[in-house]
Amino acid sequence: MVVKRPEGLVLVSPEGLRHDGRRPEDLRPVKMEVGVFKNADGSALVEYGKTRVVAAVYGPREPLQRFPLLPDKATLRVRYHMAPFSTEERKSPAPSRREVELSKVIREALEPIVLSEEYPRTVIDIFLEVLQADGGTRTAAVTAASLALADAGVPIRALVGGVAVGKVDGVLVVDIDETEDMYGEADMPVAAAPDIGLITLLQLNGVLSREEFNRALDMALTAITRIVELEKRTLRSGYVEAGGEE
Ligand code: ADP
Repeated sequence: MVVKRPEGLVLVSPEGLRHDGRRPEDLRPVKMEVGVFKNADGSALVEYGKTRVVAAVYGPREPLQRFPLLPDKATLRVRYHMAPFSTEERKSPAPSRREVELSKVIREALEPIVLSEEYPRTVIDIFLEVLQADGGTRTAAVTAASLALADAGVPIRALVGGVAVGKVDGVLVVDIDETEDMYGEADMPVAAAPDIGLITLLQLNGVLSREEFNRALDMALTAITRIVELEKRTLRSGYVEAGGEE
């Protein structure tokens, strides 16, 4: 969908700065916290700028309702949901097609890192709630889920982190916000576990040349390496706040 850009909105200034003052490779200010819910086995809050997502993990456990269990491994179940008050226009609380699809995409981004074969015939539930949406909610959700899984003590191969890169006014930029997503030319969410060299989510909406794609992927992986470092610090100290430009 092409949305007409508001008069006067400059996405990249002549000096190469973005509409919020960031350089192309900068993340938004990041906040991470674990143990935010007392009633979940593991939980986390992740903020990328104004995007704010919480994750709650339960399990491995017996399912509360009848559910077809796998004989050789745990089943990962993911629910991604946007709170009605998370978007500019009130969103219906009922799960939309987008939310059903994103739940699947996020599950597939997490499955390769969970040692699910250690817990056959169980379920691991991950609830992801977007409290505030300003672009990049699926990638912030992957980061929050990774932290919450680790906080729950679920054995994982490595931490995974996510970020969306994009192209705005011909410039490749990291961690796009909603404005850049809406008026930019391309949006590429990526999730990866840098410690084991695994990319677990890669989507592209829009058009990039092969060279741009390679550069965008490099930028995403550099940003994710930093995000995973912040995840490690968060798991050591409970809470981390970081500027985007370090
Ligand atoms: P992501 O949040 O992973 O970037 P999208 O590209 O689908 O996923 O969405 C981009 C942004 O558009 C979201 O982060 C959010 O700010 C906004 N958005 C998405 N869905 C809705 C919706 N149903 N109502 C209002 N805003 C939305």
